[in-house]
Amino acid sequence: MTSSFRASAEALSERIKVSFEFFPPKNGDMETQLWESISRLAPFEPDFVSVTYGAGGSTKQPTMNTITRISNETALAPAAHLTCVGSDKATVDAVAREFQAVGVNHFVALRGDPPEGVGAAYQPHPDGYANGAELVAGLRAISDFEISVSAYPERHPESTDFATDIDMLKRKVDAGATRAITQFFFDNDVYERYVERVRRAGIYIPIVPGILPIHNFGQVARFSKLCGTSVPDWLARRFDGLEKDVETRSLVAAAIAAEQVNDLVERGIDDFHFYTMNRAQLVYAICHMLGLRGDGATAPRIQLDAQRTL
Ligand code: FAD
Repeated sequence: MTSSFRASAEALSERIKVSFEFFPPKNGDMETQLWESISRLAPFEPDFVSVTYGAGGSTKQPTMNTITRISNETALAPAAHLTCVGSDKATVDAVAREFQAVGVNHFVALRGDPPEGVGAAYQPHPDGYANGAELVAGLRAISDFEISVSAYPERHPESTDFATDIDMLKRKVDAGATRAITQFFFDNDVYERYVERVRRAGIYIPIVPGILPIHNFGQVARFSKLCGTSVPDWLARRFDGLEKDVETRSLVAAAIAAEQVNDLVERGIDDFHFYTMNRAQLVYAICHMLGLRGDGATAPRIQLDAQRTL
């Protein structure tokens, strides 16, 4: 290996930023898995770790508990997902203040899906925030939070065209959003074309690619259909016949995600958000391949306690 190659690999790892998304656990086993994943990935010193908010606020308390524990027991910066579906403004504001009280300065602000599920017609609460943009404005009125929002490289399923979709992103930015995180995608050309459209619309905040390592292709294919992400034929072919072969599937998944991320790096992207699904292994492998090394110096203080439940 030449010294110039080594130098460029080091320079690359210095400019790469990552963030990790987790969901709140439903039971003790899931909590153990979550905290093992957090403690494995923490040494990569993510920019932030976010915790999702279940449909219609269904996980408010578990999300709060997870955020509180991250805040109290680690050196990681927590970001709380917050949705406004089914609630009036005062209730959403009160939840935001509760998060603030346990150390949250960063929200991932989302409208959320209708209670009937993705695809059903969205009805805002009569006294609620009608969409992501209104929620961002509401949070901005409470405090000078860091606010991330969603972005959809293949359009949100409800939007009629890209202009409508990007207009909503623009409204969220005008209301105070500082970063957009994309829905997961598998075709980097789609992402690049989307970012070009966004820039042409005068939006200059970071559009951070959301990367989903594929733990279970069947599940991902079903979910992709619901949220409008296209699944290229080549991707299906790579998993074909591996339904019962977990080990090979995981090697294939790591290779696919590494290819995707490396290609994005070559296109100039250096900030990545990983949908971890509360599993560390694939994300760890990808971060390692990106040149990141957790030296442990800033590793969080985490005591894994299998007995503890939310
Ligand atoms: P908005 O930004 O308000 O709108 C999304 C799109 O819908 C717009 O771009 C536009 O195309 C269309 N639209 C909205 N209003 C109109 C209108 N009046 N007319 C025409 N088109 C319209 N869900 C959860 O429940 N919990 C989570 O923790 C969570 N985390 C997420 C994190 C990320 C990074 C992403 C990408 C999504 C997440 N979601 C989560 C899913 C999200 O709640 C759904 O995609 C939801 O359907 C839209 O929420 P939003 O904030 O993107 O909506």
